[in-house]
Amino acid sequence: MIREIVIYDINRKDNNEILHKKLKTVSDFKAKETLDCIKDLNDTLDDIIAKQGNRRGAIGLSANQIDYDLAVSAVTLKDKRYIFCNPEVLEENGKERLFRIGCFSVDDYRALVRYNDDVVIGYEDENGKKQTIALKGDQSCVVQHEMDHLQGMLLFEKAEDISKDFFIPRETVYKDGNVPLKNHGWLFELRRRLGLNKSMITPAYYSSLFNDYTDYCAFVQKEAAEKKELLEMIMKHTPEKGKILETGPTTSALSVILNQKGYDTYCLENDPDMYDLAIAVNEQNKTEVIYAQGELSKLPYPDRYFDTVFSYQELESYEEEKLSKVLAEGLQKADRYIFMVPTIKVVSNALKGNEILRSEGTWKKLIRKNSLKIVDEKSIGNGGFLILVIGK
Ligand SMILES: [Zn+2]
Repeated sequence: MIREIVIYDINRKDNNEILHKKLKTVSDFKAKETLDCIKDLNDTLDDIIAKQGNRRGAIGLSANQIDYDLAVSAVTLKDKRYIFCNPEVLEENGKERLFRIGCFSVDDYRALVRYNDDVVIGYEDENGKKQTIALKGDQSCVVQHEMDHLQGMLLFEKAEDISKDFFIPRETVYKDGNVPLKNHGWLFELRRRLGLNKSMITPAYYSSLFNDYTDYCAFVQKEAAEKKELLEMIMKHTPEKGKILETGPTTSALSVILNQKGYDTYCLENDPDMYDLAIAVNEQNKTEVIYAQGELSKLPYPDRYFDTVFSYQELESYEEEKLSKVLAEGLQKADRYIFMVPTIKVVSNALKGNEILRSEGTWKKLIRKNSLKIVDEKSIGNGGFLILVIGK
């Protein structure tokens, strides 16, 4: 039988209890409860795969997600279904790595979680026969995620220990600016736990930024046309489907466009209001941009994780010392730092008011002073803006 998925919801005590329960060991493989549980897991996971496919080649569901108290998970690896009863990690042979995953019981949420990327799992199959399986990469991650479910641990609890200033919700935000409360109570709890309690965005806030705040898709297209040269430069210097991080994205329109073009895009925004706005723009455009709040140097990504870091009208507000620090941090996380800044030739209505305007020559001198290389450059708008591509 296809069962309804139990969704974590702060307002539904019964839901949360089963999801937070350490599930019972399976001992009788012929018991009706065990047989029903396995059949329902199979049926429900089949239904999910029929609807949304298995793009990563690994997808799973655990017993408490369909309201059974038994330590069983169903997982499809490539096209093969496995039933893991009482699984345990026998060997950890790889490195711990951050994986970006979602969970059917935690709607709209994507988190970075840490798992060993090469493990041997011991388990019993649906007949109670002892088995072992070696798993790598996404497969290793998905099976270990299911094992967390069997221990009563949810995705956001696992993500919590990464860093206090880093988490990634993809929130559903309605056009009236409210976050729907149904199924999203967990988000409020998560914010409380992470000390990020803040008010949600309001319609007034949206309309102060956009006259017609219902049409973010048109807004994104307009931004893309205006920043065409920067987009072209980013695509020229980033491999196909590469990883791109935008810092200070404001509305994140460029990242939305790059994501639609197949790049793996991330946005880092410190300002909480801008952060919320960026998420709303992304939501309306139905892309998969990953958002984070915090500082670049504290991001839990290894060095050179990204192909490109870029910013638009951000670096010109920094004094020389801060600028050197930001460039160094960017080039620690990525191979290229691409940025667009106004110069002394800019027309004043393109400015925000906090800029330190430098000539093209001064910008280049600053780069060389930091022992960095100018890989590519472009002057646009009659010299009013400069795009620089920087490498080590
Ligand atoms: Zn899950």
